[in-house]
Amino acid sequence: MFFEAIKVMPRVLRVGQKTRINGKFHELPRDIQLGWPAVLKLKYVPGNGTWEDGNTLLWGEEHDLECEFREDGTFSFDFTPAEEGETTFQLYMERPDDAYKFPVFSCYALEEDLFKLRPFKGDTHVHTCWSGCGGMQEALPYVCSMARSRGLDFTFITDHSKIYPSFNAICAMECFESDFKVYPGEETHVPYRWKAERDFVHNTSVVDGIHHVALGADRGVVEYTNDHFEEYTQYLEKRMNELDPSISEAQRKLMAGVDWLVEKIHEFGGIAVFAHPFWRHNNHLNLPPRVREYIFDNGKFDAVEVIGLGSGERNANSFAGNVECISYLHDKSVKLGRHIPVTGATDVHRAEPLIGYQYTLAFAVENTLENIKDAICSGRTLACSSYPGENTFFWGDFRLVQFAEFLRREFFPEHDERCAVEGKLMLQATRGEISVENVKAAASGCTGKLFREFWAE
Ligand SMILES: [Zn+2]
Ligand SMILES: [Zn+2]
Repeated sequence: MFFEAIKVMPRVLRVGQKTRINGKFHELPRDIQLGWPAVLKLKYVPGNGTWEDGNTLLWGEEHDLECEFREDGTFSFDFTPAEEGETTFQLYMERPDDAYKFPVFSCYALEEDLFKLRPFKGDTHVHTCWSGCGGMQEALPYVCSMARSRGLDFTFITDHSKIYPSFNAICAMECFESDFKVYPGEETHVPYRWKAERDFVHNTSVVDGIHHVALGADRGVVEYTNDHFEEYTQYLEKRMNELDPSISEAQRKLMAGVDWLVEKIHEFGGIAVFAHPFWRHNNHLNLPPRVREYIFDNGKFDAVEVIGLGSGERNANSFAGNVECISYLHDKSVKLGRHIPVTGATDVHRAEPLIGYQYTLAFAVENTLENIKDAICSGRTLACSSYPGENTFFWGDFRLVQFAEFLRREFFPEHDERCAVEGKLMLQATRGEISVENVKAAASGCTGKLFREFWAE
């Protein structure tokens, strides 16, 4: 990894602003140590294939850039990016007979609207042992620490039909005073009175088709529905009567149920994410296509979980469902004439095989609940899939995807390594092997510091 050998900061710059960029070889290059005739130099290549004077780049063309190299291995240069995008830099050593090239690094220039935001990786759909279908051993501190160890900046805990596990998770992780944040959530479903008691505990309502994730609400929607069953049934009846009577009663019930859930999620201060719209189980879709159309055309949801799983595990079905959802959203966005905000999530029911490998990349001012909610609702999120040994895939707004590709290469390797260190220490603390104080001393503030260094002032 580049950052392990050479440090160069800052790397995210403002368009049109001259920035002093400082570097350091952690170990002096061999030829310099030996005092051999070698001179360090720097070249650059604008990523858009165009020089400042408008001339286009010839094949393999690079320009030298003035750079001050010092005996202690530090170096500095000034750079003023002309427009948004990436510029690649090549450190090299001129020797009597040849030139030795070091690994390249790049900087990315942003217009002010995006420059003031930071990219935070998070999972918006996570189950624990407090879901009936969650793994029995998936304790809250374990799942949260695993999320941190896989490079996440935040996670929503979204157990079926109950919000309290997420509140408990927030309390359990507060002691670490980490840059990693846990936020409140619930996967909401429509309950039925005859099995309401069982629903609340064992989430049998999961089979009923409606899966909307509530992010950042301050009370549980399913608990409220159970406690106010008269209000709910009256709402359902009224809403069903307003819908096209040629639609079957069963489907109108689902449509009205979605409206209820989304309205309550909003009333309780949350945002509603349409979860895994193309989930298949037992060889059939979880949700009738007509109800899906209704949700998209009339629903009031805030975002769609475009990369998710539904079945809680990675398999061909979930992959196909994600691909279908991407194509569907593309067509829908064209028809609606606007982007539909997206999230990426794992929907894990066991953290170990999946967590951190599918996520939401949220561009927000700060990693706070309100800022993350705002980023999701405003379409400043990408859905991401990034499994070990596989290519990372980002889906969403084109401008954000371009920037995310730079971040994937230049920023996240170091970011994720810091998260891994902190997450592993948290896991040790949850097992009682080290103290919370040990974790804080070693890792508290570790990613915040990197964000401050990586972005220009
Ligand atoms: Zn679900
Ligand atoms: Zn789920």
